[in-house]
Amino acid sequence: MAELILDVKDISKTFPGVRALDRVSFDLRKGEVHALVGENGAGKSTLMKILSGVYQPDGGTLTYKGKEVHFQSARESSEAGIGIIYQELNLVPHLTVAQNIYMGREPRTALGYLDDRKMNVDAAKILAELNVDISPAVRLNKLSISKQQMVEIAKALSKDSEVLIMDEPTSALTETEIDELFKVIHKLRSRGVGIIYISHRLEELKHIVDRITVFRDGRYISTTNYADITMEEIINKMVGRKLENMFPVRKNLPTQKKLLEVRHIVHGSILRDISFDLYEGEILGLSGLMGAGRSELARAIFGADPRDSGDIIRDGKKLDIRSPADAIRHGIAYLSENRKEEGLAVKMRIDQNVTMANLPEVSKRFGIISSAQELQATQNYVDELDIRTPSLVQVVNHLSGGNQQKVVVAKWLFRDSRILIFDEPTRGIDVGAKFAIYELIERLARKGVGVIVISSELPEILGMTDRVLVLHEGRLTATLRTKDTSQEEILNYAAGLGA
Ligand code: ADP
Ligand code: MG
Repeated sequence: MAELILDVKDISKTFPGVRALDRVSFDLRKGEVHALVGENGAGKSTLMKILSGVYQPDGGTLTYKGKEVHFQSARESSEAGIGIIYQELNLVPHLTVAQNIYMGREPRTALGYLDDRKMNVDAAKILAELNVDISPAVRLNKLSISKQQMVEIAKALSKDSEVLIMDEPTSALTETEIDELFKVIHKLRSRGVGIIYISHRLEELKHIVDRITVFRDGRYISTTNYADITMEEIINKMVGRKLENMFPVRKNLPTQKKLLEVRHIVHGSILRDISFDLYEGEILGLSGLMGAGRSELARAIFGADPRDSGDIIRDGKKLDIRSPADAIRHGIAYLSENRKEEGLAVKMRIDQNVTMANLPEVSKRFGIISSAQELQATQNYVDELDIRTPSLVQVVNHLSGGNQQKVVVAKWLFRDSRILIFDEPTRGIDVGAKFAIYELIERLARKGVGVIVISSELPEILGMTDRVLVLHEGRLTATLRTKDTSQEEILNYAAGLGA
């Protein structure tokens, strides 16, 4: 068995109001890739920041190459040979590749001048070792994100790093770029570098991982050889519950009361005469292949896209919806795939986000301090939607993705929205956070909100909704009762094949 290079024992770290790490352990051998997984907020990044000297632990020990260490700064850890590639890259865009690699350690000539030639030659050597085709003299901002990441790796290697930490390295990469990265990882492993690999894309781990450690809620759960554990077991450990319970139990049935009637919506050839109803307390799925017109339908109802004809009726009255502002006034909200577009001010506090009317048309109250009443309203939503936060005045940035999404929802509810359209609400987030969103949607339905969920994941549609609309090339090809349908039937309609 290869020698241990890093040994973490009983490390704890507390931030105001949050126990990010509670006596966790983790070890790393030379020449192994050790995956660290866990839901958002499990404490993975916090541990990595401790290993790289950015944070100091409150307790526990860190042994590196057989000696106990106390890194006081990122510099100390880096000089000791621990390299870290962050989610957000840490390079200087307008400098060259070589300048980035040797920043602060530039080679000099005998006379003390910068030795650009040597720097470029050395950089070229390292890049060649990694087998990547990047010129040392090119400016960083001319490179793709994946190439920039390779430069980060080259930089870590140039410092003779013996440990390399990769925190979600593939989140911004394409499939081919991921393959390239994996080749480099294999290469580093065979050179004896120990690699800590953090990712929420569990499927990709099988290509590179030797061992896997799971954290949950700041606690250490287990370490296993990757070959000895199934995907299902990993997920169970991460979320602390069984997969069969992936969807919350519905606690209400839709009422007979129509919240919204959509009639004969036409938008060029994108939406061709679409009609349906949405009931109070109903979860209605919107299924279809890419380009079927699902988001376009949502945007047409929300007034974000124009429509050529068709009516949107609420309580028997035709609504005059020409813009999102009109839709919002009539209680209709659209949560697009992109949270930032929805006006979540991530640098501001939860209460400010919920109560501040910060959409462009009503931005006048920006900056006003919350009154007691507003705090009370925020508290109600935090309770009602189960927003996990140490306080109402927490900055939204520090919340997990799922909780940020709840803040967006709270904001819409504060504005009296009764019809919520979620567009791919769980895309790109991990299993546990998905469950939280399903729970949120279930809670909304229980409150009598009508929810429309656009999703490409059929298990999600089947697990969550009361009825499903299926679109194919802009046409509504089926309206199905979820409990009477199947994945195959939905797919058939989505492909335009009929029943
Ligand atoms: P992960 O990387 O597994 O998603 P993190 O280590 O980022 O988890 O976060 C663990 C917990 O610590 C979360 O609840 C997070 O909100 C909290 N946290 C992380 N960094 C800070 C910070 N600088 N200030 C306050 N809380 C933080
Ligand atoms: Mg993280």
